[in-house]
Formats: sequence, C-alpha cells, structure tokens
Amino acid sequence: MASLSNAFSNLASTPRMPALFVGHGSPMNAIVDNEYSRTWRRVGEELPTPKAILVVSAHWMTRGATLVHIGTNPKTIHDFGGFPPELFAQRYNAPGAPEFARATIDLLEESHAHSDERWGLNHGAWSVLIQMFPKADIPVYQLSLDLSKGLADHFKLAGELKALREKGVLIIGSGNVVHNLRMLSMDGRTPDWSAEFDRYIADAVAGKDTGKVLDVGSLGSTAALAHPTIEHFLPILYPLGVMAEDEKVTFFNESFDLGSISMRSFLLS
Ligand code: ZN
Repeated sequence: MASLSNAFSNLASTPRMPALFVGHGSPMNAIVDNEYSRTWRRVGEELPTPKAILVVSAHWMTRGATLVHIGTNPKTIHDFGGFPPELFAQRYNAPGAPEFARATIDLLEESHAHSDERWGLNHGAWSVLIQMFPKADIPVYQLSLDLSKGLADHFKLAGELKALREKGVLIIGSGNVVHNLRMLSMDGRTPDWSAEFDRYIADAVAGKDTGKVLDVGSLGSTAALAHPTIEHFLPILYPLGVMAEDEKVTFFNESFDLGSISMRSFLLS
C-alpha cells in the first residue's frame, strides 16, 4: 500500500463499515410512506454512523471516464419528469466529502478516475438518503458509471474501493435488480422473466457467487428483458466488489413494484 498518497492515508481508520445495494425504484419513494421507504428508514437507524457515504447510482452515467464528485455542497438534481411539485421541491442538503473523494481517486490508481465539480446528487442517491439519513448531516459523494466499461471492469474498479470501508465510508450501489419501465404491469403481476432474473441474482448474491452475477448474459432474453439498458444493473457490482469473505448478506425489500421493477436490496455486514 506504499503507493497510496496522503489523501487516503490521512483518513482515520474505523471498524469496517457495512455496504449496501439499494433498489431505488420510483423517485416518489423519497416522499411517500410505504414498505420501501419505511425499510430504508429502519436500515438507516440500525447502521453504524458513517464518516461519509459514497453512492454509485444508475443515474450518473459517463462514457470513457469514471468521475468522482469532489464538491463541498453537492446540489440536489431532479433528474426525472412527470412527478408532483412536492417532489421537485425536495432538497437533500448534505455536505460533500472532498477529502474522501480525493482519497477515492487515489485508490483508483489502476482503473483511473477524474475529479468532477459539476455534478451533485441525482435521485438514485438522494431519494434513498432522504429516508435513510434524514438529517442530511453525513458527507456524501458520488462516483459515475463509465458505460464504456464492461461488467468485469466495473467489478474490478469496485474492488479497488474496498479499503474505504475501513475509513468509515458507507458504499451504496443504487439501481434495481430488475428494471424495465416499458413492461410495467398495471395489474401488479410479476412476469416470469422478471421473477426468474430476480431469483438468479438473489441466489448468486446469497451464495456470494460473483462469477454468476457477472455471467448474467448467459440468461439471454431473460437478461435483455430484465435490463433493456445496463445502468440499473451495474450498481449491484459495487457492493459485491467490496464484499469481504467473512460477512453476511441480509436481503430487504424483496418484492416487485409494478412487476418489472425488483426492489430487492441487500446489506453486507
Ligand atoms: Zn432509477
């Protein structure tokens, strides 16, 4: 670890923080009281208080570079349309985490990342955090998803972040295990392909079989239906990439919203 610069080594060591994958679903979960938001609140109360939170969300996509936001006051980004004014009025005014962000860039020596000062918090981050950490007093920063990378590259990059957990950073991947907005079922029934994909990922995560997660392409048309685009799947690879051998997996919000959105989430601790 001699090559790590001061930004990382200056951070105080802590017991290993848990890591999370959160299925965020509809932005409305930020303001409604339902089974998902209630669970987020409970999880937030039960977690040890992090020194900082790093969110890797489906809604910050870049191409050709991985960016890490280093701003001191990340703005709340309302990156959605067709929702009530109350949702657009929401602000999550947590401070940024520039020292942690710089340490993160240092850690990503092999995969490479660049600093960013323009981004803020997109709804994949703040809609969850506003329920999980409503006081907004823990510094938060985001890392982008470089869509030019393959699944194995994301998994490798995530692995380089592992040491942040021992610096008190709560790493949250925010996406959905199944995410197809064109196939929402208004009668609430879950299609077979949706249940099948969800079960495949659940089994792989429960068995800590990351090879199986990376091999989702083998599911063929089921995978294509579960993820017509890849951005809601990729965040799963981040908590899995920082997973330790000795920790346990706890699932929560194991249900489907409108059939084609799996809200399945997991805690590694
Ligand atoms: Zn989303």
